Amino acid sequence: MKILVINCGSSSIKYSLIDIEREETLVQGIVEKIGEEHSIFRQRVQGRKVERRVKVRNHKDGLRLILDSLKNPSKGVIRDQSEISAVGHRVVHGGSDFVESTVIDDKVIETIRKYSSLAPLHNPPNLTGITILRELLPGIPHVAVFDTAFHQTMPEVAYLYPIPYEYYEKYGVRRYGFHGVSHRYVSQRAAEILGRDIRELKIITCHLGNGCSITAVDRGRSVDTSMGFTPLEGVPMGTRSGDIDPSIIQFLADVENLTLNEIYEILNKRSGLLGLSGVSNDVREIKKAADSGDHRAEIALEILAYRVKKYIGAYAAVMGGVDAIVFTAGIGENAHYIRSKICEGLGFLGVTLDEDRNRNPAEWNGVISAENSRVKVLVVPTREDLIIAKETLEAVTKAEERRKT
Ligand code: ADP
Repeated sequence: MKILVINCGSSSIKYSLIDIEREETLVQGIVEKIGEEHSIFRQRVQGRKVERRVKVRNHKDGLRLILDSLKNPSKGVIRDQSEISAVGHRVVHGGSDFVESTVIDDKVIETIRKYSSLAPLHNPPNLTGITILRELLPGIPHVAVFDTAFHQTMPEVAYLYPIPYEYYEKYGVRRYGFHGVSHRYVSQRAAEILGRDIRELKIITCHLGNGCSITAVDRGRSVDTSMGFTPLEGVPMGTRSGDIDPSIIQFLADVENLTLNEIYEILNKRSGLLGLSGVSNDVREIKKAADSGDHRAEIALEILAYRVKKYIGAYAAVMGGVDAIVFTAGIGENAHYIRSKICEGLGFLGVTLDEDRNRNPAEWNGVISAENSRVKVLVVPTREDLIIAKETLEAVTKAEERRKT
């Protein structure tokens, strides 16, 4: 069974075709710079890479290009588009209405549209992808897989902000949290690796990629997460600030004569590791600079680790303990020095890292804590395309079962 996974952004479309039984990515690709003079089409089919410049006027052209390339007689992987059984669409914001991945119908589309005001950069292009693909691939289920859904189990005490309650009532101003599919998957995978039932574990998952978020997963349910109303809150990220004193916004507006939009641009695109280091948003570049004595680069990495550590302490307190800490995504999976720094000094919580294992997680099935460490520490690679495909299948199966009963 083949499932097409689509992540439709404002000027790019990422896609994968997944063989769900074999858990294999048959094709992975991206169409970038949609609507510009030269758009870029990149695709990897079982290790073979293709890249070419094309003219893609709009998302419809882009999605047609993707479908055509999948069934290209020489380079494609399917003979006919009827081989695609379902489509999983990544949707950033499902607000409070969706607690799980959901088969899309007109009502679902309306609800996603309703949340566009909360995710103006993401939900509208997500919807464009859904609308066009439902036309191009009719007769098969399309499923919305939400970044926010996993966090809908958070209690009020975690999701309400201490601001006038009416803003929650009137506008839905609350913590939503993101990266839900990743937090859910890696926490389940960690339980499997440890041979334990997730319903008896307190797990802290650290998704550290370009965007970073930490989640407290208590017996399989998200009970708190560091990203909030938007993905700007929480730990520092590649270019996002994470938590800051909100008064800084007014102060900078005054002293630098900036508009609110300009400040948000700075907080989203020029802050975090990039803003601190002045080198890059990429940890690999920052590490190189730090190793050659660049203080700002060094402190940027220190601050990332320090703030992740603070969240780990907070979430251990929230859950009344912690059994496992899981690292995932670009930084979490690859930067052993960041994992070391984060775990340093957490002995009091029962965390002891084994440095040899930390440098070669794959050889240890991802378990990088010492044998006698009470808290297990794991590296679990996140495969968002595969997870979205699995969620898609799960939603379709559930919907069929509901129809039968
Ligand atoms: P996204 O959030 O866009 O999916 P990823 O999870 O792929 O991003 O993470 C990208 C980031 O991971 C890069 O910007 C870089 O900071 C970091 N990264 C990727 N590979 C490595 C590596 N080998 N060593 C250290 N950091 C890495």
